[in-house]
Amino acid sequence: MDFSERLEYLFFPWDVSCVSCRAEQTEPCGLCRRCLGELTPLSGARCEICLDPVAAPGLCSSCLRKAPAYERVYASYVFTGLMRRLIHEFKFHNKRYLRRVFARMALDTLPPALLSACAYLIPVPVSRTRKRKRGFNQAALLTKELSRLTGIPVREDALSRKDGNTQTALLDKSERRKDIRGLYTAADTLHGETVLLIDDVCTTGETLRACSDTLKQAGAGKIYCYTIARTDLKY
Ligand SMILES: [Zn+2]
Ligand SMILES: [Zn+2]
Repeated sequence: MDFSERLEYLFFPWDVSCVSCRAEQTEPCGLCRRCLGELTPLSGARCEICLDPVAAPGLCSSCLRKAPAYERVYASYVFTGLMRRLIHEFKFHNKRYLRRVFARMALDTLPPALLSACAYLIPVPVSRTRKRKRGFNQAALLTKELSRLTGIPVREDALSRKDGNTQTALLDKSERRKDIRGLYTAADTLHGETVLLIDDVCTTGETLRACSDTLKQAGAGKIYCYTIARTDLKY
């Protein structure tokens, strides 16, 4: 634990009040029962690989057409309401302590058998420019906290990201896919290990697909993905 983390433990009343509403009595993740009840769990029929909502149990049309390089995605909640606000505060208001809330959620969501099979945790990288602007990579913060809880080592060097088109959010799905391909590069350091790729939010799923393709080419074995939340919009 470094100095700033020690200060955080000292001054942040972690076990005393809810990180959202400051109510006393919190659940292990750091939210009170009422706030936890406000979060929307993933419900209904979902694709067994990517978690997209589907009409009938099985795979979605895009995974049927071309299965991703990863085995499957896990996510804790829908990206809406309080969850959206917490992630926004984590990323843009420098509330780094929220990584502990999210790491607990990851632990509650991920099957123990998967964690024990996993050799490395790999955060989805951000570009150097964005990291400089924000001061940190939110996925890496979450990944390091999950590593602290599980003992699984982090490989932050496994993937890196070039600066891309900053207007990516405005592109439609096929343009976005083209735009995102080629942004990620992997260090040639994996030799068939099972890895868990970690990001804060999954929107279109293109980032996870692109990162997994790159990791696979760089020698990863089975790839699983975790995001704290995912959008339920259809693109
Ligand atoms: Zn609360
Ligand atoms: Zn799917």
